[in-house]
Amino acid sequence: MRDPDLRIAIVGAGIGGLSLALALRERGVRAEVFEQAAQLTEIGAAIALSANATREYARLGLLGELAAASTTPTELVYRHWQDGSRIAAHPVAEGGAYVDRFGAPYFGIHRADLQKTLSGAFDAEHLHLGCRLTDLVPERDSVVLEFANGRVERADVVVGADGVRSTVRRWVTGADDAVYSGTSAFRGIVPTENLPSLPDPHAIQFWMGPDAHLLHYAIGGAGELVNFFAVVEGPPIWLHDGTVAEVHEDVPVASFRGWHPAVPEMIRAAESPVRWGLFTVRPLLRWYRGRVVVLGDAAHGMLPHQGQGANTSIEDAFALAALVADARPGDDLEPAFSRYQTLRRARTRAVQRSSWVTSSLLHLPDGPAARMRDAKVARFPEDFGWIHEYDVQRALQASAPASR
Ligand SMILES: Cc1cc2nc3c(=O)[nH]c(=O)nc-3n(C[C@H](O)[C@H](O)[C@H](O)COP(=O)(O)OP(=O)(O)OC[C@H]3O[C@@H](n4cnc5c(N)ncnc54)[C@H](O)[C@@H]3O)c2cc1C
Repeated sequence: MRDPDLRIAIVGAGIGGLSLALALRERGVRAEVFEQAAQLTEIGAAIALSANATREYARLGLLGELAAASTTPTELVYRHWQDGSRIAAHPVAEGGAYVDRFGAPYFGIHRADLQKTLSGAFDAEHLHLGCRLTDLVPERDSVVLEFANGRVERADVVVGADGVRSTVRRWVTGADDAVYSGTSAFRGIVPTENLPSLPDPHAIQFWMGPDAHLLHYAIGGAGELVNFFAVVEGPPIWLHDGTVAEVHEDVPVASFRGWHPAVPEMIRAAESPVRWGLFTVRPLLRWYRGRVVVLGDAAHGMLPHQGQGANTSIEDAFALAALVADARPGDDLEPAFSRYQTLRRARTRAVQRSSWVTSSLLHLPDGPAARMRDAKVARFPEDFGWIHEYDVQRALQASAPASR
């Protein structure tokens, strides 16, 4: 590690925070990560990692371990909600189509497996669990971090990777910019063998219908589990302070009454009567204040319908690591943060917007608008390839100020 070290404090050991810690370590910079949870566990949730993220993990040498815990979908399939007909299909693993086109793999992985790989690659002594940040106090050349457990730390740079309800973002912007999207989701993980009605269980599939959709893909090294999330319109007003609410056990299945049998079968098999409110973050004008900067959901929480919340957080992490790694204690961070903000704001706003538009497209009733949507999803590689093609390192090079 370098001497003198820049003291970097990362708030949040989610996918963005851990990726940043590893990306910094690759560049010889050590970071301390502070996480509110007492343990790194998340039940019942998986992530689809696309080439824009896996190409960065490949550079860190993590691809083998991730591949062993993941399933690559055979195809991307869009289906009619009621009769289950295949509206469009694009090969992913089949014929190596995805890697050939985007240069890196596509993985369905349990979030806990991803966090295990990332935290396992990171030195445990620099991961501080049970530390919930409550406040930040700026000093001349540093920032003081205050935690709920009474701990106090000082750092040259603070990175808020603390998710969609970010405390750090509130400090940076002075407001809570999280917005309830008006949609919510039921999620679950089910053994593939419990889904006899499901066609193509190893594909990533969207079932699209009036006011709702269900997305699922296989996870686990042999595709033995299916992860799904089923999105519905409403409830109209989100009354809960957090992002999750318990509902009566009948509610998830009742929301998909009349759909193809594979859909209620999957939801019923998960036995998970929990509703997740889907929140987004209003586009931020500023991503930093003084020596404090945000990344991931804290900066640009988005709807999950392009499967890009985690992937763009990983992009942020590698971009920020490249831009701050050469800084020294006491340096003016404005040029690095400003370049990070310019680069990442444009990219993430485009993905955020696309995810928002996709939400309403997936929920159209049968009719002319749905037929136009069906024609659009048949062009997926042409219309959405820009999301997966993105290469952070190339984008950094292209945005580098011209040397004199
Ligand atoms: C239903 C659903 C499905 C999704 N599917 C996908 C997908 O397939 N692909 C994809 O790319 N994305 C997906 N996402 C989005 C993805 O989960 C998030 O975008 C991603 O996890 C963001 O990473 P992050 O590190 O910014 O935040 P998080 O992973 O949320 O991590 C934030 C961390 O900060 C901690 N924290 C919070 N506050 C504090 C505090 N005050 N002090 C200390 N620690 C704190 C939290 O405990 C947490 O560990 C999905 C999201 C949803 C809701």
